[in-house]
Amino acid sequence: MSRPVLASIDLQALKENLAIARRAAAGARVWSVVKANAYGHGLDRVWNALRETDGFAMLNLEEAILLRERGWKGPILLLEGFFHADELPLFDKYRLTTSVHSNWQIKALQNARLHAPIDVYLKINSGMNRLGFAPERVNSLWQQLRGMSNVGAITLMSHFAQAENTDGVAAPMRLIEQAAEGLDCPRSLANSAATMWHPETHFDWVRPGIVLYGASPSGQWQDIANTGLKPVMTLSSQIIGVQNLRAGDAVGYGSRYRASREQRIGIVACGYADGYPRIAANGTPVLVDGIRTGTVGAISMDMLAVDLTPCPQAGIGTAVELWGQEIKIDDVAASAGTVGYELMCALAPRVPVVTV
Ligand SMILES: *Cc1c(COP(=O)(O)O)cnc(C)c1O
Repeated sequence: MSRPVLASIDLQALKENLAIARRAAAGARVWSVVKANAYGHGLDRVWNALRETDGFAMLNLEEAILLRERGWKGPILLLEGFFHADELPLFDKYRLTTSVHSNWQIKALQNARLHAPIDVYLKINSGMNRLGFAPERVNSLWQQLRGMSNVGAITLMSHFAQAENTDGVAAPMRLIEQAAEGLDCPRSLANSAATMWHPETHFDWVRPGIVLYGASPSGQWQDIANTGLKPVMTLSSQIIGVQNLRAGDAVGYGSRYRASREQRIGIVACGYADGYPRIAANGTPVLVDGIRTGTVGAISMDMLAVDLTPCPQAGIGTAVELWGQEIKIDDVAASAGTVGYELMCALAPRVPVVTV
């Protein structure tokens, strides 16, 4: 028997989540965002379950080429475009759509020798202030790109800084309207939060990521609890040790937890080297033998401890769900001061993965 930690990926849930995102933005086409190795789920493992999508969006040229080699013939969008002009022959060869967010990229496109024009997503900075052109420059850039023989179809693109908050999308939408004034061209604006909660942003192409994997763009599971979205990744393990504490006994590094009474605890084969967040607080939810309980003490590299008070029948070999169907990754993340995105992406390479 090997170490019992395991991630299982529910491909049916992924498929259904895509259908839910599509229904939420009926009329728009869908870029399934699979950057960061499909948010830690494994691009090669999951892309086929998403083949009902209209296109795949990502960051990494190698991942885009992998999809082509696996036989995906539909659109592929590189969300940050090319990082250097010498990548353009590969965009040409593999027929990739590029985002364009900086002057140097436009120059590089102008100077490239291509077999056929490349489709372009012209990125507007609508207040995130990471990538993109100021709205007032967009009209003239659009005209310039339209005149270039290396440029095919042009779509306006922007990315929201807080579509999941109450401030929402109103201010960025005004800037995007300003940028798009007088331009008759398609738009792609919506991330998961905007796809689910802001229909006025949908336009031609939406770009959901996190909801495909069944976690909440806001970090709060209750915000998506009624949508039918299902967690795709389950991280599970087993109890490999049991300790009977007396009042005053401490658990783990730094003695971050101390028993106030006699208490039975279980040691689970999962730690921060598997991707479980080290700073998860005492009481972070865990499912042991189907019963909700919580962590006690610091998370170690290879182990964590759980309170067995609510599940006295549990012992060595008992099944533990760290996150998944019952224990929402959003809740574990919240207990560690982060979001589900980070935990998914941080699943460690040493964790074996199976698809179901
Ligand atoms: C990551 C990303 C998305 C998807 O974001 P989610 O919040 O996961 O839906 C969409 N567009 C761009 C440009 C991105 O970088």
